[in-house]
Amino acid sequence: MAFEGLAERLQGTIQKIKGKGKVSEQDVKEMMREVRFALIEADVNLKVVKEFVKKVSERAVGIDVMKSLTPGQQVIKIVQDELTTLMGGEQSPIKFSNRPPTVIMMVGLQGAGKTTTTGKLANVLRKKYNKKPLLVAADVYRPAAVQQLQTLGKQLSLPVFALGTDISPVEIARQAIEHAKEEHHDVVLIDTAGRLHIDEQLMQELKDIRALKEPDEVFLVVDSMTGQDAVNVAQSFNEAVGITGVVLTKLDGDTRGGAALSIRAVTEKPIKFVGMGEKMDALEPFYPDRMASRILG
Ligand code: GDP
Repeated sequence: MAFEGLAERLQGTIQKIKGKGKVSEQDVKEMMREVRFALIEADVNLKVVKEFVKKVSERAVGIDVMKSLTPGQQVIKIVQDELTTLMGGEQSPIKFSNRPPTVIMMVGLQGAGKTTTTGKLANVLRKKYNKKPLLVAADVYRPAAVQQLQTLGKQLSLPVFALGTDISPVEIARQAIEHAKEEHHDVVLIDTAGRLHIDEQLMQELKDIRALKEPDEVFLVVDSMTGQDAVNVAQSFNEAVGITGVVLTKLDGDTRGGAALSIRAVTEKPIKFVGMGEKMDALEPFYPDRMASRILG
């Protein structure tokens, strides 16, 4: 299960302080040392860990003994609040254009789950938002990505715009947006090319697609199992192309949690959705408060 190690360690730490009617500075210090270890072990970015520990410590030392919660409970609440803030606070909704079609670019490295997530997101858009999405197969480099999207489209009974792989992704995207206007699709979901590594050509291509029609959203799809690599990837994509949100995939696996806890703080971009499996209905909005509760048990 995701976050298992982190949850176990934090919950153990919390048990110790929970019933305390008085919390000394030493108690807070000891607890924060354990929290710090737990976060580092979960592969959370070091700078993020430091800032988190500092914030919680400052607040915990100044707790109000007169409140209805015991001091121990107050400290736990502070940890929970700060974890929620760390992951972005509120759930971040999809931004739609008031002049349709809304254009959503899906970007990411190969294997992160970009094509799968494109299908899942189209499914969410239709089911929950009543939209008429057009899927666009612009990942011309990964063998079979175009076919994969077409198969997903068939499975979902949703149209896929594809022009093969001998044409540039920018041209595919351009024609797709025109096609969407003619056919009254209100959302265009572009599955852009991914590569094994970040390189100049990939970033340039994404910028060229961006320049066609300012996208309403640029979602970076990253694999939560890759921990700090996912955070670095997010930072690079954000600097080079500009992203508006992140989709964290494979949270159904046994990821330690580092990516989920660091990405927002490092990139200042919200995690919008999480992938919870391979099936087309396994995409959920990301709720920082629920995630924090889950981690703290
Ligand atoms: P792309 O190269 O980024 O387009 O990656 P794909 O969409 O082909 O996904 C790579 C693999 O990850 C596939 O086997 C997907 O089924 C799998 N995958 C994608 N998202 C998830 C997820 O949220 N959970 C799990 N368990 N597998 C996923």
